[in-house]
Amino acid sequence: PIYLDYQASTPLDHRIEKVMTDCLQDFTGNPHSSTHRFGHQGRRKIEEAQDHVAALINARPHEIIFTAGATEANNLALLGIARARTGPRHIISGQTEHESVLQPLDHLAAQENVTVTLQPVDKNGLINLDDLMSAIRPETILISIMAANNETGVCQNLSAIGQICKERRILFHTDAVQALATEKIDVRAMNISLLSLSAHKLYGPMGIGALYVRDGTEITPLLHGGAQQRSIRPGTLPTALCTGLGEACRLIREYRSNAREHLQGLRARLIQRLEAELGNAIELNGEEAPHIPGCVSLTFKGIEAEDLLHELPDLALSTGSACSSTSGEPSHVLRAMGQNSIDIAGTIRLGIGQPTTVAEVNYAAAQIVTAYRRLIAGNAIPSK
Ligand code: PMP
Repeated sequence: PIYLDYQASTPLDHRIEKVMTDCLQDFTGNPHSSTHRFGHQGRRKIEEAQDHVAALINARPHEIIFTAGATEANNLALLGIARARTGPRHIISGQTEHESVLQPLDHLAAQENVTVTLQPVDKNGLINLDDLMSAIRPETILISIMAANNETGVCQNLSAIGQICKERRILFHTDAVQALATEKIDVRAMNISLLSLSAHKLYGPMGIGALYVRDGTEITPLLHGGAQQRSIRPGTLPTALCTGLGEACRLIREYRSNAREHLQGLRARLIQRLEAELGNAIELNGEEAPHIPGCVSLTFKGIEAEDLLHELPDLALSTGSACSSTSGEPSHVLRAMGQNSIDIAGTIRLGIGQPTTVAEVNYAAAQIVTAYRRLIAGNAIPSK
């Protein structure tokens, strides 16, 4: 089938694979043991990877803490910041955040005496900045707002939120997992104190991500047991995975502007073809807000997305997000945007990526149109 699920995961770029297999084949030793050549080699690899990750977001290399992925990075950011502070603690986040932000916040509220406010979004998926400012209290320690949403691709205004955090002296965390492949994020210019990222959304390997932690930010580790990564995240680092993430970040800086153009072209083509054939039967979610080019959230009127996917065996795509499609719960993101449950049930997410071709988009659009018409015709026949 044609892969159209790039928000769930991206295929490994062969250049990244090469860097990683070279690293695996050329034994590098424990990167944290310093007494011999093998360990030194490993350490150099890790430092190179840190350099590349840091360069992508304009951080300093030692501010990059490797994790097993963005779920861990988000947990470390939220739990780690809250636990490093005493007294009344208030955290502001958003209703459309990823579960790996929402659930640690639920935990903090239920078990650790932290007050949490989740800001609503408008019908385009955007947080209102005046409302955000009004939500700030004297005890607010952190604002956590994602860069781009994984179901709709909608991008929040990081510069404006960073400015608010700077003026009010509040830490700012952003889950940038879905944004980094195409959007320029500068942690200094945007006053971001913590940023989560994941390699498998950037054409790198699964199982590795990072949390940027700005110099001087107090954070309590989740794990205990070693002095690696300044004890913020102890444990022996997986050298090959780290080099994979590093190479992914290095490549993004090379291809980002071309990637944007490529994806914008494919997106426009896909939408134009579907709209030409289906007109008002489809609705684009979050289209009026700034969004990443690779994510298209589409609501189909009069059918269930599950049935549509069933009619599309040649296309690999998702309803809502991979995370909510396993829970069986209707998307909390679309609900926050004001969609009713019928529309939510009729929504699919089409993810296009670097390897996607014009021919694939043409084929996908034609398949979707045919499948939709078949379903609507079937629904119209009264079952006696
Ligand atoms: N945040 C967002 C916005 C995501 O899309 C994902 C991946 N579905 C994650 C966090 C979790 O990332 P990982 O798979 O690396 O744990």
